[in-house]
Amino acid sequence: MVKEKPSTLAPETRLVTAGHDYAEHGFVNPAVYHASTVRYRDVETLMSGAQPYKYGRRGTPTSRALDTAIADLEGGHDARLAPSGLSAITTALLGLVRAGDHILVTDAVYRPARAFCDTMLARLGVETTYYDPRIGAAELAGLIRPNTRLLYTESPGSQTMEVQDLPALADVAHRHGLSVLIDNTWATGRFFRAFEHGADVVVTAATKYIVGHSDAMLGAIVGTAEIWPQLEEAHLTLGECAGPDDAYLGLRGLRTLDVRLERHMRNALEIADWLKSRPEVEDVLHPALPGATGHNLWARDFTGASGLFSVVLKPAPREAVAAMLDGLSLFGMGFSWGGYESLVIPFNPSGYRTATTWTHKGPALRFHIGLEHTDDLKADLDEGFKRLAATAG
Ligand SMILES: *Cc1c(COP(=O)(O)O)cnc(C)c1O
Repeated sequence: MVKEKPSTLAPETRLVTAGHDYAEHGFVNPAVYHASTVRYRDVETLMSGAQPYKYGRRGTPTSRALDTAIADLEGGHDARLAPSGLSAITTALLGLVRAGDHILVTDAVYRPARAFCDTMLARLGVETTYYDPRIGAAELAGLIRPNTRLLYTESPGSQTMEVQDLPALADVAHRHGLSVLIDNTWATGRFFRAFEHGADVVVTAATKYIVGHSDAMLGAIVGTAEIWPQLEEAHLTLGECAGPDDAYLGLRGLRTLDVRLERHMRNALEIADWLKSRPEVEDVLHPALPGATGHNLWARDFTGASGLFSVVLKPAPREAVAAMLDGLSLFGMGFSWGGYESLVIPFNPSGYRTATTWTHKGPALRFHIGLEHTDDLKADLDEGFKRLAATAG
């Protein structure tokens, strides 16, 4: 059902036009179909299965418009929506594994996905081995067993921002018959063409940059033509679907994704560079920053960066970090990211990672840089650093 756009169109143009065929009566945007029941004209139509829309859960012109646009953004064969990014992940995993399988999951995986592997997948008889996100191809090959089914990647990694060598890892995985999944939420298909770098499946938290305004939960599963039947079956069988208003918000956000990402990228690079020069800062974990860990791989494989990165401060007492963060006026404290607003959250990966060791001594902060003016953001952080110093004594 996906109409192929001529590939000569630039990504910016495709973001604006993909999925347009689902709008009717000359309107620019598709209608928001609030729908469960779809009526059939006659028994022949009902029995033939030829009617394009069968039931609300199974897709409406609103959801299909966004499916099509996200498949195009990521460069996959087709896409399906899920009510959250996490549900996109769990649905894709359930579609790809069976009891007795073994999967390899990056140690820097989004933490709730790790929880799914450790609880529900384990109960269903699927064993997970976590691997260092910066593992080389030879080392990865050593972890592959006869029953290993899947390589799960996320690049850059959640919080710690490790860039993975996806082409090299995917090559080893494919030679051993594994499927390769990536959580491409950070870069989106705009800045990382995951399928062209070896992925078979892309999962994305559309909640973040695609929705882009912190006002809806949404996920998507995208796949190559070869793997698509497994993903489509899982989506259908598990009864996944997204609400029409949320699907519409995703589509609305997608139309401006390019301009927003470009500003997030520019602002975040400027703030990251400024933070790097601060005496309170030990390390800046932002792969698009020259000299940062993972920069070479990022420069080779990515065409841009989003607004999310992390910073490690020099050792400071907890109260000092609290004084710094509690008093910020523009940076909010909150999980999630990808909206227009700046956010910061303290984190400590040492408590739950199992394949890597977090060696930094100082407190770590994850920043999401929004669309505010960077002068205002720097002033807010500058005041924060003064509180940090005053409280640290
Ligand atoms: C937020 C996030 C998710 C989960 O998305 P939700 O919509 O919050 O369920 C998955 N992966 C990454 C990398 C995320 O940051």
